[in-house]
Amino acid sequence: MKLGIVLRADRIIREEGFRPNRQSTAHGPVDRIFSGKMSGVETHFLYGRFPGRRTPSWEIPFEANQSAFDELGVDHVIGTFVVGGVAKNVRTGDLVIPHDLIAFSGPRVSLPPLHGAYSNAHVIPSFCKNLRELLLRGSRETGIPVHEQGVYVSFYGFSRVETLAELELFDRLGISIVGQTLDPEFTLVRRRHGHYGAIAVAVDSYHDMRDQSQQDPEEFRARSRGTIRQGREKMEAILQAGIASMGSSPFDGNCGCVRAHSGKHPDMFASYPEDLF
Ligand SMILES: [Zn+2]
Repeated sequence: MKLGIVLRADRIIREEGFRPNRQSTAHGPVDRIFSGKMSGVETHFLYGRFPGRRTPSWEIPFEANQSAFDELGVDHVIGTFVVGGVAKNVRTGDLVIPHDLIAFSGPRVSLPPLHGAYSNAHVIPSFCKNLRELLLRGSRETGIPVHEQGVYVSFYGFSRVETLAELELFDRLGISIVGQTLDPEFTLVRRRHGHYGAIAVAVDSYHDMRDQSQQDPEEFRARSRGTIRQGREKMEAILQAGIASMGSSPFDGNCGCVRAHSGKHPDMFASYPEDLF
């Protein structure tokens, strides 16, 4: 297993001696990779999805980020997220390990397959049960509470947060958290028959935000920065403990993520069949 983790993991990078590992890809250079080992597992941190300045979510270089993981042979990816809490029980600062996702629309990102012809990713199951188990064990080992289940809804394509009506709709649909960046990253990994897991910190909560217009925006920003920093520190601890706990029981490979076609099939969608003339 080679693990890729999308996280600004300052403490681990510093304490575990991770080194910068710039990658050149067909989609441009990715200079935010830090490589090393955690409990003997080769691990590559992608230090944030954005190169430098923050951009709208559709300008995130998902293809370059995934191509850098491809260059490194990463086959298991854990994405970490800052999200909005939708469900009543998800409050500001809570951590959620989602078990599935919903996407109504999204940015147009794609990459050619690594091997063979194009095919759509099959995503049942969506998140890798082994990577979910790693995160759940990390939570139990450290005593850091998490919501062990939850549905993430992808909300992107617009550089704004959700309206009250949208949040009410998501809540009625049984959705736990909302964010803009999971689906493209997840889909590119699953197109490669890779394994994907996720953990998120809620930077606000629908039920805390209903009277957002009454709040001081500066106070909200300051609180959000603190919540994000604490969330990242907790995620680092969970990841370290989760990876350490895998040592005696390595992944058994029966997670159901890898179901590549093995037979040779004619391409039904060629411009025209070769035997037409
Ligand atoms: Zn898996």
